[in-house]
Amino acid sequence: MEFRVTRTTTPKKRPPEAGLGFGKHFTDHMFRADYTQEQGWHDARVLPYGDLGLDPAAGVFHYGQAMFEGLKAFRGVDGKVRLFRPEMNARRMATGAPRLCMEAPGEADMVKAYHALVRVDVDWVPRGPATALYLRPTLVATEAFLGVRPATRFCFFIIASPVGSYFAGSAGLQAVKIWIEPTEVRAPRGGLGATKAGANYAASLHAAMAAKKAGFDQVLWLDGKDHEFVEEVGTMNFFVVLGQTVVTPPLSDSILPGVTRDSLLTLSRELGYKVEERPLSVKELKSAHRAGNLKEAFGVGTAAVVSPVGELAFGGEKLLINDGKPGSVAQNLYAELTAIQRAEKPDTRGWLQVVE
Ligand SMILES: *Cc1c(COP(=O)(O)O)cnc(C)c1O
Repeated sequence: MEFRVTRTTTPKKRPPEAGLGFGKHFTDHMFRADYTQEQGWHDARVLPYGDLGLDPAAGVFHYGQAMFEGLKAFRGVDGKVRLFRPEMNARRMATGAPRLCMEAPGEADMVKAYHALVRVDVDWVPRGPATALYLRPTLVATEAFLGVRPATRFCFFIIASPVGSYFAGSAGLQAVKIWIEPTEVRAPRGGLGATKAGANYAASLHAAMAAKKAGFDQVLWLDGKDHEFVEEVGTMNFFVVLGQTVVTPPLSDSILPGVTRDSLLTLSRELGYKVEERPLSVKELKSAHRAGNLKEAFGVGTAAVVSPVGELAFGGEKLLINDGKPGSVAQNLYAELTAIQRAEKPDTRGWLQVVE
């Protein structure tokens, strides 16, 4: 893909770095490419941020052919801007697209597109601690028709948002309260759970909203068959520390293969923690808690990196974890990964790509 670049003639006023929040501001430009069966992927360009101009009959609006990605560009302590493991996000979209009967651009082209957009909007990459430029690559069906079948036209676009700490108004990690959802499921076995399909999010909003109304921050998702095994927490992968061991459920077709999950499993091993990827039941969490062995629980994902869980609740029961405070494993992993992302520590694994 060759990219055309059209720069905006009306740049926006940049928001102050304090209080950026998450996903509230968008940069001056976006990336866009289109797909038809005749032309393949074509018309790849960086252009001013703006409307997509879709037909109301476009497939995305009716049958939900939509998926997205989320990755960050960081400004390092040396001033250089780097993308974190972008090839993982490109691969995830490329491998997820066939499950939704969609066409995705080639992986190398998608990585080039991430670079192209960040290059044009590089002044939007914030400088402060715990800030980044968040990229949202998105793939949607654009063909206008109503018969139920996979679309044959698609649009791939990327928007970018300067983001601050996920934990609004606080410098450090904050523990959240989590409701263990007994009835509704995010993704069943055989469903779309391993893809970043928008449909998974649509399925998750109702229980998350109910949990918020009841005073919780998010829900812990259980498996769709027996409602017994832990899958994910909110929109993050789920880790616990049992005794001295870091444990996370194994990947399956109902669990999203997180880049943060993979990175933190690697760092956990390197930091000397014992690591297990194995099924984790609510029953086991309860008995570990009774025995004083449930030392920590936390969610992991690109947006927050690590989100410690201070309390797990179900029915009338509550499991208080580490006195409701972030634990040392969560804090160590957070410190280690964010130091690598900001080039405060050497990137010995080839996880970072400088944007030039
Ligand atoms: C995006 C996402 C994650 C985290 O993936 P990362 O690549 O680490 O950001 C975890 N679970 C779900 C359901 C997600 O959508």
